[in-house]
Amino acid sequence: MQKVTFAKGDGIGPEIMDATLRILKTAGARIEWEEIEIGEKVYLSGNTSGIGKEAWDSIRKNKVFLKAPITTPQGGGYKSLNVTMRKALGLFANVRPCKSYHPFVQTKHEDMDVVIIRENEEDLYAGIEHQQTDEVVQCLKLITRPGCEKIVRYAFEYARLYNRKKVSCFTKDNIMKHTDGLFHQVFKEIAAEYPDIESDNWIIDIGAARIADTPELFDVVVMPNLYGDVVSDITAQISGSVGLAGSANIGESCAMFEAIHGSAPDIAEKNIANPSGLLKGAVMMLNHIGQQDIAEKVVNAWACTLEDGIHTLDIYREGKSVKRVGTRGFAEAVIARLGQAPRRIKVEEFKKDVKLNLPSYSRSKKANKVLKGVDIFVDYAGGSVDELAMKLKNLEADIKLSMITNRGVKVWPQGFEETFCTDHWRCRFEVENGHPAEKESIPEALSKALEEGIDVIKTENLYEFDGVRGYSLGQGQ
Ligand code: NAD
Repeated sequence: MQKVTFAKGDGIGPEIMDATLRILKTAGARIEWEEIEIGEKVYLSGNTSGIGKEAWDSIRKNKVFLKAPITTPQGGGYKSLNVTMRKALGLFANVRPCKSYHPFVQTKHEDMDVVIIRENEEDLYAGIEHQQTDEVVQCLKLITRPGCEKIVRYAFEYARLYNRKKVSCFTKDNIMKHTDGLFHQVFKEIAAEYPDIESDNWIIDIGAARIADTPELFDVVVMPNLYGDVVSDITAQISGSVGLAGSANIGESCAMFEAIHGSAPDIAEKNIANPSGLLKGAVMMLNHIGQQDIAEKVVNAWACTLEDGIHTLDIYREGKSVKRVGTRGFAEAVIARLGQAPRRIKVEEFKKDVKLNLPSYSRSKKANKVLKGVDIFVDYAGGSVDELAMKLKNLEADIKLSMITNRGVKVWPQGFEETFCTDHWRCRFEVENGHPAEKESIPEALSKALEEGIDVIKTENLYEFDGVRGYSLGQGQ
């Protein structure tokens, strides 16, 4: 018996969880279930994290968690519990298989079978945001080498285990040369270790357009967190319905399984939600805990239900479907087919989980890190950029004012009067002679800024790593 924690969640959560548990129990899953309360009720009881200590204890003890979708209350400082759980439990890989079930489920793409592997812990989902001036807020995008290595290696190991032929990488490294550039660079390094698997790289905009238009081009696709969130919903939706896809969140010790969709409050308590997404998540969970026999039995019965035209509202088509059923009716239809095999739908293969094949991250030798200057960000309004530059000149020592940008575009020296400027300025001070900057120059410049009445909102040091520039140039520099 495997102990598994589960939560019924919010909106359609309780309905689709009841349906899923009934199917799993009747199929003979060897699971001892432990229920926890998370989500809206917990949030509204005053706990802004949406989860209490006992619930955390249960998940951390059982290490396997089946979660129905939850509602994140709008505003009020509530953090997304989904993001918190993925990060706190180190669930670095989000695996989202999206497959079409033509001709049983209407789809524009008869032949699609794509697995999106989304990095799950970093990127803009670090959730580090600040308002810095009246006009400007920022969100920090954090991409790390260990984060990239883990997710990219996972994607290749997954492809190898499931006999997938190609891994594609989606980034926007033509614009974000350092953050997305690192993800792409790590992808190239790791792809070279898997010569048996084809690999290619796409700029996210055209990659996403091609997935929506020609998903047959893709097999396994790995990408940073935000792109993966967006692209996996698109991919699930074009396969037939967002209600069809399950998702696994895999970490080194814990794993969480869910549907990819949300709590769908618009259709809650109406007995019309499709429970397939959560059921497919539960099937991935059965595979993960080594109950491949039950996983196969459940997914076969589920595929037979689709083949027999027994469909929930989201996939029901007049003339094509045979019977429209509610959430409970769908579960009953799946249960009635346990033990049968689908005639045409090719269901997924089940293999013991991939996570064990991943080496732990080993930190490489520290690079030679040389200070070259500093970007001083200032809040300044009401004067010209030349006046600002004159004031900033007074901060110079071995580091000299080399550039001022506004929203990343160079506005001094020789800016364009057409460029729209906000009250948020990046003022770059750099050494001119190629030597390292004096460490003291930065606090000295800041103390002079205080004397000058310059409103400094933050600084970023400029470094070279082993002789390679570790910061972006200004646009137009
Ligand atoms: P949603 O995925 O809940 O719903 C989007 C649309 O898809 C709705 O029209 C809904 O009716 C439909 N839909 C979703 N699941 C369906 C199903 N199983 N069967 C039939 N139709 C289905 O997205 P949303 O409305 O943007 O978000 C609602 C709430 O869910 C928000 O509070 C959001 O924060 C939360 N959310 C939670 C998760 C999660 O728990 N993992 C994921 C995404 C969103």
